[in-house]
Amino acid sequence: MKTRDRLRIAVQKSGRLSEASQSLLQQCGLDFRQSRDKLFCFGETHPVDLLLVRDDDIPGLIADGVCDLGFVGLNVLEEQQLEQIAQAGSSRLHSLRRLGYGGCRLSIALPQEEVFAGPESLRGRRIATSYPRLLARYLSDQRVTAEIVVLSGSVEIAPRLGSADVICDLVSSGATLVANQLKEAVAILQSEAVLAAATTVFLDARQPMLELLLRRLDGVLAVRETRLLLLRSARSQLAQVQAALPTAALTTVLGIDDQADSVALQVLVSGGFGWADLEAIQHAGATQLVVLPVARMLA
Ligand code: ATP
Ligand code: ZN
Repeated sequence: MKTRDRLRIAVQKSGRLSEASQSLLQQCGLDFRQSRDKLFCFGETHPVDLLLVRDDDIPGLIADGVCDLGFVGLNVLEEQQLEQIAQAGSSRLHSLRRLGYGGCRLSIALPQEEVFAGPESLRGRRIATSYPRLLARYLSDQRVTAEIVVLSGSVEIAPRLGSADVICDLVSSGATLVANQLKEAVAILQSEAVLAAATTVFLDARQPMLELLLRRLDGVLAVRETRLLLLRSARSQLAQVQAALPTAALTTVLGIDDQADSVALQVLVSGGFGWADLEAIQHAGATQLVVLPVARMLA
């Protein structure tokens, strides 16, 4: 393996993952200067450079050793892992971290007037997709044979054009499906952006840089899910309110000047805290509830 003293990361040039990927690197304290051709970004703060490319090229660039890491959809990564396994018997590509953005699902969708009675409904049908390997894996797991029609884009219009009966494509809100008179039948992959890499330990300066990047990334991802909840409660209802808080929450109870019968609570909540959780705490007797994002944390 060739040695290099700078990590090279492939990032989507322009598309759904571009902004979030670059902003995540920035939150990790990495800053870049863009070259004139806008394809290469030189790392000014750390020995890390970016290559701006089409998302479909990212797994190949990593597999070939041109880049060391890449921010790419799990859908693209898994499709190309399966492709490499089919071609070469194995793949060195893997996902180091799930990144929490670019969420979507690879789903099978059929014309609105059709009834989906399980995978059996797909037997012998023509299914249009840009993800033939993932679709083939699903069909084989379900022991169903169907014809896979590989299209590189505009998959959703295939049924109307008569080139397929059913499609297998990425869905997030579902609006594109509705606009094309299709309905989602089953999701075959839950996807989001991941940090992809090859199974390699670098024997040069890239290894400590990779470890630093992963440590910072973990810090950023952990804080991203963390919320600071502020609320008030009557002392008489404190036990009830506390019982309604998420189990692993870190809570501080504070007295309020001039209000002997009330307390203020500061609650640090980690991971998926939504409206329903907030309403449950209010229902238990809390008032003046405020939820704040957390920018940084040092335990
Ligand atoms: P490129 O020019 O880089 O090839 P693209 O058109 O293939 O771009 P985008 O549409 O920007 O790619 O999607 C990039 C990734 O965003 C997808 O592979 C997927 O992981 C994710 N994504 C999230 N939501 C959606 C969605 N509704 N439709 C398509 N992709 C989505
Ligand atoms: Zn693409």
